[in-house]
Amino acid sequence: MLDRLTAQAPDALLALIKMYAADDRADKIDLGVGVYRTNEGATPVFKAIKAGEQALIDEQQSKSYLGPEGDLGFVHALMPYIFGSDPATGGPTMDGRIEGMQTPGGTGAVRLAAAVAKAAGVTRIHMGTPSWPNHAQILSDLDLELVGFGHATPEGAANIKAVLSAIRDARDGDAVLLHGCCHNPTGVDYTHEEWDQIAAALADSPVLAILDVAYHGLGHGLEEDAYGVRRVLGALDEALVAYSCDKNFGMYRDRVGALYVLAKDAGALDPILSNLNALARASWSMPPDHGGAAVRMVLEDEGRTQMWLDELEDMRSRMRRVRERLAAADNEVPGLNLAALADQNGLFAMLPLSKEQIAALRDDHAIYMAGSGRINIAGLHAGNTDKFIAALKAVAA
Ligand code: PMP
Repeated sequence: MLDRLTAQAPDALLALIKMYAADDRADKIDLGVGVYRTNEGATPVFKAIKAGEQALIDEQQSKSYLGPEGDLGFVHALMPYIFGSDPATGGPTMDGRIEGMQTPGGTGAVRLAAAVAKAAGVTRIHMGTPSWPNHAQILSDLDLELVGFGHATPEGAANIKAVLSAIRDARDGDAVLLHGCCHNPTGVDYTHEEWDQIAAALADSPVLAILDVAYHGLGHGLEEDAYGVRRVLGALDEALVAYSCDKNFGMYRDRVGALYVLAKDAGALDPILSNLNALARASWSMPPDHGGAAVRMVLEDEGRTQMWLDELEDMRSRMRRVRERLAAADNEVPGLNLAALADQNGLFAMLPLSKEQIAALRDDHAIYMAGSGRINIAGLHAGNTDKFIAALKAVAA
């Protein structure tokens, strides 16, 4: 029976990793895989997480089952960072209207959000493209129709008109999936004014808002990066927020995420949560515990929290420096609009390079990037950025 299956195309980025590993040029540069790297090119475990994990080893009494909702201490500890703690807006739970559950990474959270939306009658999801490729794969796997609109303008800003008209034209049974911050792959985020417009449009639309927050704190800071989420939730009766800790706590392979739901009032939460629990139970039963528990050990301790905040600040400011260096080279490499990178956020940017230019960067300069022209900003550092700019100049000539 299994021989009826047709082979699936291999993941393009995984193929790139293999090519990079096989390249023995000493000055090769990996801008492909979406992980943070230090100035030395490493992706170390956060010191705060090491300390949290040590505390977990010392203090954890049992590994008995929790439940489909996972570690609610972890889920709740994140909430003030995402939803704020201002009593005027109801604090981290918005007056008891928000609850969450732990998921296997942000991927699990997005999957669960789409699945519960489908269970509630959603058939179409509007989304800016390009997007994280797995968004489309998850929606297709759930037989949800993806309605795309262009996310960014050629000038490197958000296409606010496109998102507003998608929301305006949406009908009952539609959802819209928006990146909360640090858009993958473009780095192009909505400005505060644009989020205000989006929130107002959503409030007037029957569309269900799903926000995907996978890089919180990697743009301008935890508070600043949460502007869109808070603004949108503040305007709506209900919404879903998928959250990943895999980048901002460096937990990648530990699969740490959460899905939050905003309901019109505290009483409306229970039936929604019972559906989320049932869907999670049928998918993964319960999320892996270790990573979420380690994040909780960080957030429950002031010293470890400060360590985490400092590490996040280092990552953010290093990526800003790279962005500024690239933007400053705008005149040297005309046509790539490098200047726009300074106003964009997070781990990624898209360069308008042709397939041939991307191949030439790889073959002639040992620079590896996704075939879409997406680069990982964190793959660049003081030691290789000049080489990268010179190579761009060479292939763009
Ligand atoms: N959403 C977006 C936009 C992402 O870029 C990613 C990770 N690449 C995820 C969700 C999922 O993250 P995780 O690794 O936690 O599953």
